[in-house]
Amino acid sequence: DRQVRAPLKGPEEVRQLALTLNELSMELKKQEDWRHHLMEDLTHELRTPLTSMLSQLEAMIDGIYEVDVEWLQQIYEELIRLTRLMTDMERLSEAEAARFTVSVKRVNMVKLAEQVCRNFQPMARNKGIRIRFNNPNVPCYAEVDRDKMVQVVSNIVSNAVKYTNEGSITVGIDWQPEATIIYCQDTGIGIGPQDLPYVFNRLYRVDKSRSRFSGGVGLGLSIAKALVEAHDGQIDVESELGSGSIFRITIPNTYKSMANKLA
Ligand code: ADP
Repeated sequence: DRQVRAPLKGPEEVRQLALTLNELSMELKKQEDWRHHLMEDLTHELRTPLTSMLSQLEAMIDGIYEVDVEWLQQIYEELIRLTRLMTDMERLSEAEAARFTVSVKRVNMVKLAEQVCRNFQPMARNKGIRIRFNNPNVPCYAEVDRDKMVQVVSNIVSNAVKYTNEGSITVGIDWQPEATIIYCQDTGIGIGPQDLPYVFNRLYRVDKSRSRFSGGVGLGLSIAKALVEAHDGQIDVESELGSGSIFRITIPNTYKSMANKLA
C-alpha cells in the first residue's frame, strides 16, 4: 500500500527505520525464546505427575493393586492441580502479550486496592488474620488497565494471606508525582535470601513439597510481574525468613505504550 511505497526522505529516516526494524526483530526473537522455554517448562512440569498417575491407574486396572479410594482421591487432587496449572499458564501467556494490549484509563488506585483487600478479607478471617488498608484519604490516580491491575494486586494480597499464619497484612498506597506505589506487607513466613531472587520466575516455589497438592503452581508472581511490566512499571520484594515480606508495585503515573516507544 501507499505507506510501504512512500519514498524515504534521506539518511536519518533510513536510520530510524533500521532502528525500528531492529527493535521489532529483537522483540520477535524474545517472544520465540519465551515460547520455547515455556514449552520446556510445561513438559517438565507435566511429565512426572502424568507418568505416575498413569502407572497407578494401570496397576489398578490390571488388578495388581486393589482399587483404593484414597489413591483415587490423590489422583483427583493432582488432576485439579494440573488443571489449575493450565489455567495459570494461559493467564501468564496473556500477561506476556499484554505489552501490546493494555488499554489504560485513569483509575483511582485507592479504590482499586481497597476493593481487592475487601475481596480477600473472608479468606484472611478464616485464617484468623486481618487485612488492614492504610487509606491515604485522597484519591491517587494512575493510568492503568483496571482488570489487569486488579489481577496484580489480587495475586500479591492472596499470597500474603496464603503465606501468613499469624499477625496481619497491611496494604497501602504511596503516591509520588511520577509513580504510584502499592505495597503489601505481611508478618508471614518470609522468604530466605537463597530463594528471594527467584520468586518472580515462573513455576518457582520455595517449598515444593508443601505446594504439591494444596498450594499454588508457582505462576502468580510471574503473571503479576508481566502485567506490571506491561504498564512500564516494576515489582519488588523485601523479605526476611520468619518475619515477613513486603511487596511493592510501582506504576508510572503516565503510561507510555509500546507503540509510542516505536514511533
Ligand atoms: P504460588 O502459586 O506457589 O504461590 P507465586 O508465583 O505466587 O506461586 O509465588 C512463588 C513463591 O514465592 C511461592 O511458592 C512462595 O514460596 C513465595 N511467596 C510468594 N509470596 C509470598 C509471601 N507473601 N510470603 C512468603 N512467601 C511468598
